Amino acid sequence: ARTDPPTLDVHDVTVRFAGLTALDGLSLTVAPGSVHALIGPNGAGKSTCFNVLSGLCRPATGTVRLGGTELTRLAPHRIAALGVARTFQNIVTTDGTVADNLLLGRHALSRAGFAASALRLPTAVREQREHRARCREIAELVGLDAHFDTPVAALSYGDRKRVEFARALCLEPRVLLLDEPVAGMNAAERARTAEVVRDVRAHLGLSVLLVEHDMGLVMRLADEVTVLDFGRRIAHGSPEDVQRDPEVLRAYLGT
Ligand code: ADP
Ligand code: MG
Repeated sequence: ARTDPPTLDVHDVTVRFAGLTALDGLSLTVAPGSVHALIGPNGAGKSTCFNVLSGLCRPATGTVRLGGTELTRLAPHRIAALGVARTFQNIVTTDGTVADNLLLGRHALSRAGFAASALRLPTAVREQREHRARCREIAELVGLDAHFDTPVAALSYGDRKRVEFARALCLEPRVLLLDEPVAGMNAAERARTAEVVRDVRAHLGLSVLLVEHDMGLVMRLADEVTVLDFGRRIAHGSPEDVQRDPEVLRAYLGT
């Protein structure tokens, strides 16, 4: 049986950029198998939080732990290998087919290595075949199976966002960090992405930390919500509680 994903624990993290405090003593916990939404106005520090979690930004103080393992200040590839994968707010993928991109997502898992696969050694060939089969399963899970051999450049914007999503899943993460997964999508694509998030959580047994401006989506998907404003946590709780919180209304409406 599959084990529960480990708890992701962010404790008292502070990030400063030349005079600006982007995160100010932030603490949050993503419970095993839950969807935790991180919301807040533009500039609140949401992407900075993801950069700390994925090793792209070093906090001045504070710790990040995944289960019993400290992730703080590890290099991005080490964090990815420990089971934390992310998507980016802006699409970076433009080259190759969907299959190419998903296979790239699996390189961190490759045992045979580049030299062996370049020489087409039998173990590397078998491993490559297994990786391709797994990428196809993940493409099916996110609704990209019909486009598996299609160049990414020929896909719609919504489908390209799905490639980003699938590529993160190809790392077999235990924790998935999604930075604005439905930004720029139409209503049908948004609804479909929400379903995919629910499906992958159920089928792959992972936890999700979700940054998203679409409040309807947050309310439908999240078990817990943390609200940031100017790098500080101003509220935390169920979607219903947070929606009614006067501090949250003030931060969003500026009243
Ligand atoms: P959000 O994702 O919530 O919109 P960000 O985490 O991107 O917010 O940004 C938080 C604050 O930190 C903003 O004021 C932003 O301008 C600043 N910031 C983010 N990254 C950098 C950086 N690399 N250098 C300087 N300031 C930055
Ligand atoms: Mg952002």
